[in-house]
Amino acid sequence: LMQLSIPLNFIGSIYREIRQGLTDIEAMFDLLAVKAEVEDRPNALPLTVSEGTIRFENVRFGYDPDREILKGVSFEVPAGKSIAIVGPSGAGKSTISRLLFRFYDIGSGRITIDGQDISHVTQESVRAAIGIVPQDTVLFNDTIAYNIRYGRTNASETEVHRAADLAQIGDFIRSLPAGFKSMVGERGLKLSGGEKQRVAVARTILKAPPILVLDEATSALDTHTEKDIQSALDLVSKDRTTLTIAHRLSTVIGADEIIVLKAGEIVERGSHRELLGMDGLYAEMWTMQREATEAEEALRRAREAD
Ligand code: ADP
Ligand code: MG
Repeated sequence: LMQLSIPLNFIGSIYREIRQGLTDIEAMFDLLAVKAEVEDRPNALPLTVSEGTIRFENVRFGYDPDREILKGVSFEVPAGKSIAIVGPSGAGKSTISRLLFRFYDIGSGRITIDGQDISHVTQESVRAAIGIVPQDTVLFNDTIAYNIRYGRTNASETEVHRAADLAQIGDFIRSLPAGFKSMVGERGLKLSGGEKQRVAVARTILKAPPILVLDEATSALDTHTEKDIQSALDLVSKDRTTLTIAHRLSTVIGADEIIVLKAGEIVERGSHRELLGMDGLYAEMWTMQREATEAEEALRRAREAD
């Protein structure tokens, strides 16, 4: 019976995903591929989160056996602290967030939450403890309210509205003819990347998980909206264990520790100030981004003067 119940569960969860109608067919295939990859141990117990300390211990991982993506990564996110991961694109940053969510099992090493190996406890309990604002948000073909409430299905209407307001999307939703009952996704309203990201932020605010993972959570937003949402995210992440993957370095200055990842290895770590002092990759990225921002501003001023 044991052997039979696992595939049945698996089919059941796929069926639910399909029925809920994922908007993005690629994301659906991602889910299918991912779900096939990881299985709970027989009699796995749920994770017990006491404080929410995350540890990566010498983690090695590759999507394909012949290409290692993470080459022995170790770090700790102490309970309630905020750690940032930065580095060039392709370095393996998003992979770290996927492994923490246990989308894949690792090759060697250990990932623990409050001392418990995440591969020994149920996937469901691990995912319940973590809120992710991903790089690309997938919305269900349902109402906006449904999509926000997905963060915590028993939330009241007032709570849903409050979360939307904190994520700077409440006014936009209320301006729609059907308000919170507006259909989104493939067969409904097409939301922009930034709007989808704000729905994801509202969902996470509602879920209020002990552990937060922000994977370039504000990358699809303009600088002005980014500042507003960043303050909403700062509010949610206060006293929560937070792992921030960032593209714009300006958003990680305040992190307790910044980890610089390059080609699957940690090459530098420290505070913003310490890293600038090292005059290495971080300092180089910082200078480049500052120059890019200055060039953008100069261009904008020149356009405005025309
Ligand atoms: P980052 O977030 O730092 O830009 P990722 O963690 O997304 O980098 O990717 C790290 C490397 O892993 C990249 O070379 C990427 O092509 C590869 N990769 C990412 N996802 C997959 C996948 N599902 N299958 C195979 N390779 C992947
Ligand atoms: Mg990424």
